Amino acid sequence: MRIPFLRPRPPRLSHLVADLQALEASGVYSNYGPLNAKFEQTLTDRLFGGIGGCLTVNNATTGLIIAIHEAAPRGPGRRLALMPSFTFAATAHAALWAGLTPLLCDIDPETWSMSPNAEDALLGAHAGEIACIVPYACFGNGLDLQRYARIAQQTGIGVVIDAAASLGSQHEDGRAFGAGFPHAVVFSMHATKTFATGEAGVIHCGDAERLARLRTMGNFGFGRSREATMPGLNSKLSELGALLGLAKLHDFEEIVRHRDAIAAVYRRNLPGFQFQRVVGRRIAYQFVPALLPEDCRMSRPAIIEALAAEGIGAAHYFSPHLAEHDYFAGVSRKGDLCETAQIAARIISLPISDEMTEAEALSVCAVLRRCIGANR
Ligand SMILES: *Cc1c(COP(=O)(O)O)cnc(C)c1O
Repeated sequence: MRIPFLRPRPPRLSHLVADLQALEASGVYSNYGPLNAKFEQTLTDRLFGGIGGCLTVNNATTGLIIAIHEAAPRGPGRRLALMPSFTFAATAHAALWAGLTPLLCDIDPETWSMSPNAEDALLGAHAGEIACIVPYACFGNGLDLQRYARIAQQTGIGVVIDAAASLGSQHEDGRAFGAGFPHAVVFSMHATKTFATGEAGVIHCGDAERLARLRTMGNFGFGRSREATMPGLNSKLSELGALLGLAKLHDFEEIVRHRDAIAAVYRRNLPGFQFQRVVGRRIAYQFVPALLPEDCRMSRPAIIEALAAEGIGAAHYFSPHLAEHDYFAGVSRKGDLCETAQIAARIISLPISDEMTEAEALSVCAVLRRCIGANR
C-alpha cells in the first residue's frame, strides 16, 4: 500500500502548451495582466456566485499581511491581533509583519475554530487594545461571519478571515464560504491545498473600495502612476500563476465532492474517534482531521509510525499549536488555552487526495482500528 499524506495535483503544465505559447507571445508576465483579470472574474462568477470581487495574491500569507495591515485601525494602544492558537504559523507571522502582536485565543471543542466565549473574554479584558480579529475557518469549516461583522461595527476593530483551506467550502444555503462578506476573506491555492496550483491565493471581499485599496497596497502602494500613496508591498500573482488557476477551475467542483465522499468514509469507519462538527453544508477537505480516542492504547507518534509502516502518511496539524512554538510564545500574548491544549494533544491528520479511492480510505481505517485496539 502507498497512500501519501498529501498528493499535490496542480494542473499539468504539459497539458497547457498552447496557453503557455500564447502567454509568451503576449509578452505580459505580471502586473494584473489579462490572464489575471480573467481569473479574478471567473473566480467571482463561478465560485462566489457573482457577488463581491476577488484580488489574487502570490500566496495567502502575503494576502493576510496586506489584509491585516489594511483592516487594523492605527492608534495608540491598539496593537493586538486576536487569533486562535490552533492555526498555522502563517496567521501569526502575518499579524507580526503587519506590526501587531498576536493575542492567542482558545477554540470551541467541537468546531475547533475560535470560541465565541473565549473571544468575548479577551475582547473584554483587552478593550481598546485590539486592532484586528483574525478568525481562522479551521480546516475549511464554516464560521458565523455575521458575528464578526457585528463586532467590527460595534467596536471599530478590523476583521480578516483566514480562510486558507476554505476554497470550495459552502455555507448552509450553498453559497461559497465568505461570498460577499464586507471584510477580507483570504484563501490559499498552495500546492497542498484543495485548490492546488503551486503558490497563489485570493482575497475575496464584498466591499469594492476595500478590495481596491488592497489591490493598490499589493502593487507597491502605487495609488497614482508610479507614486506610492499608501503602505505597499508586492503581492501580485504572475500571469503563469493565473493560467494555472484558470486551469484548476475546470474540475474543481468534482474534486471537492470526491474529497467530501472520502471524508464521509473516514467518519463512518472510525468508531471512538471524534470528528469536527461541520458548520455549513460542506468542507473542502485538504485532509481529514480527527481526534484519537481518549482511551487510545497507542501514543500518536506510535500510531503515525504504524501507519507509515503500512505505507500510509499522516500528520498532526496543529500540534504544536502556536503558543507551543517557543518563537511565538515569546512574541505573543495569550488567554486561557485549555480546550486548544486538549484538541492539539489528540489530533491526527489523515490522508486524502483527488485520486484516493474509498477502498484506500477503508484500509487506512482498518490500520487505525487495529492501532487503537478496537474490538469496539
Ligand atoms: C496554508 C495556510 C496558510 C498559508 O497559505 P500560503 O498560500 O501557503 O501562504 C495560512 N493560514 C492557514 C491556516 C493555512 O492552512
